[in-house]
Amino acid sequence: MDLSIIIPLYNEAESLPELKAWIDRSLQGFTYELIFVDDGSTDGSWAVVQEMAGQAGHDGKAVPPDLIGGLVRGIRFRRNYGKSAALYEGFAAAQGDIVITMDADLQDSPEEIPEMVRMIREEGYDLVSGWKQHRKDNALTKNLPSKLYNWTARKVTGIKLHDMNCGLKAYRQEVVKNIEVYGEMHRYIPYLAKNAGFGIIGEKPVHHQKRKYGVSKFGLDRFVHGFLDLMSLWFLSRFGGKPMHFFGTSGILMFLVGFVMTVWIIAAKLVHQAQGLKFRAVTDQPLFYLALLAVVLGVMLFLAGFLGEMIARSAPERNRYQVKERL
Ligand code: UDP
Ligand code: MG
Repeated sequence: MDLSIIIPLYNEAESLPELKAWIDRSLQGFTYELIFVDDGSTDGSWAVVQEMAGQAGHDGKAVPPDLIGGLVRGIRFRRNYGKSAALYEGFAAAQGDIVITMDADLQDSPEEIPEMVRMIREEGYDLVSGWKQHRKDNALTKNLPSKLYNWTARKVTGIKLHDMNCGLKAYRQEVVKNIEVYGEMHRYIPYLAKNAGFGIIGEKPVHHQKRKYGVSKFGLDRFVHGFLDLMSLWFLSRFGGKPMHFFGTSGILMFLVGFVMTVWIIAAKLVHQAQGLKFRAVTDQPLFYLALLAVVLGVMLFLAGFLGEMIARSAPERNRYQVKERL
């Protein structure tokens, strides 16, 4: 099969039939499956998915050839877990050589897919991300914060994408089978891919539509959470396998600062005392408290490093590498 189109959806019932028809129109000449992942919808989305799966062409009924679209598959969660969870299950189920993800709300255009597929097949990309160059969302709550967020993400990840979190993306199958999306990390799949050794990442400007039905499922908190997740991923990719290098280094520095201050305070007092000058009690000086704080923090950082090492040692992925070839 050429393609797997993974469509995470949460309460998007009205959009689904139009979306399927649009995809089928855009992907003539490809063999493909549509994997609808219903993330705990409560609006009857699943009934629509069931109906689409049972439509002519999918159960052996005779239909005109131009009506046959992709094979419809569905996965339904018992409750709402979030977009990352939906993508995770979709990735696990995908069988196509190239895997596409797109939103269910008709904002992403399936007409972009053939070109993205071509870029992967012919230009050798591991992953092609959409770029909503002319974004049709609220300027203040989405577009502006998104610019800032993408700038930060570019700096931290070193991946030169304008629109890291675009829902429309295409992947070589290997990529999705070798990364693990969890939490809310769907925002950083290109970073996960890069960390897994799939670093040839391209971008294609894509058309973007206004939301036609339903409401957006993400609010402003996405930017706070997104930033925290970015920090976590950065930390994990740099120190996940060797936490002591981070905590130990900062612990030693902290401890040294405290130690030097302590020596200074004591030495100053002794010198003054010996020369018969006026001297303050060690505990009367602000520096004493700073020194105390630094020493304690230093030791605590060290302990965090040891704990981190114990966790890293028992992590199942401690020795999981991406082997490209063997002879
Ligand atoms: N979505 C999902 N689970 C969630 C939230 C969203 O599967 O908990 C889906 C949603 O149905 C849509 C896609 O993720 O297909 C993108 O969501 P949305 O359109 O609300 O995001 P926006 O376009 O506003 O950034
Ligand atoms: Mg949307």
